[in-house]
Amino acid sequence: MVKKGIFGGTFDPIHNGHLYIAHEAVERLNLDFLIFMPSGNPPHKTGRKKTDASIRYELVNMAIKEEKRFILSNFEIRNKGLSYTYKTLEYFNTIEPDTEWYFVTGADCLIELESWKSVDRILNLCKLAVFSRPGYNKEEILIHKEIAQKKYNKEIIFLDINPLNISSTDIKKMIREGKDVSLFLPKNVYNIVLELGLYKE
Ligand code: ATP
Ligand code: MG
Repeated sequence: MVKKGIFGGTFDPIHNGHLYIAHEAVERLNLDFLIFMPSGNPPHKTGRKKTDASIRYELVNMAIKEEKRFILSNFEIRNKGLSYTYKTLEYFNTIEPDTEWYFVTGADCLIELESWKSVDRILNLCKLAVFSRPGYNKEEILIHKEIAQKKYNKEIIFLDINPLNISSTDIKKMIREGKDVSLFLPKNVYNIVLELGLYKE
């Protein structure tokens, strides 16, 4: 059976922490492909200023183009309205019902799982694979995993890695403060961020 993952995010900007869990996901879950899914309008970030979807999309494109098993989708960007994970998963399950679908997230998403729309549908449509993330200890993650597994009667996969301590929010803050972020971004993404003067204010 073909196994594919979906990796959703605002990717504003995509950074090495994302790429690290993406590589780990492909290896550990033995995925044929991992689809990067930049969100159009994420419900939990409606009040915040976001970079144009076309720019976030292009940055992801540049970051992943060398890796054969990484794919980029504009499904959420081209659909107007809020991006809901359950809708995305419904769509991909409909067009590829024989694929085994995974949804890849960092630990913060598991902790906030109850704020997602239609969690039951999400867990019916895919296997949720959660990666450790700095700021969330293992016990806390495992407790949330247990609670969700019991409540929805579905297995959740926890992948314990040594994650990079970085977020898009940190990167934007560092840029505003004039700090060097070159270690946290793929080289070509870093160059474009500099060239376009992104995230300076
Ligand atoms: P922001 O600060 O804007 O929330 P972010 O760095 O959290 O940015 P998102 O686009 O929100 O990036 O995240 C997309 C996905 O990547 C989420 O599932 C998130 O948990 C995961 N993720 C992001 N950074 C890391 C990291 N350093 N380690 C593990 N998972 C991460
Ligand atoms: Mg985030």
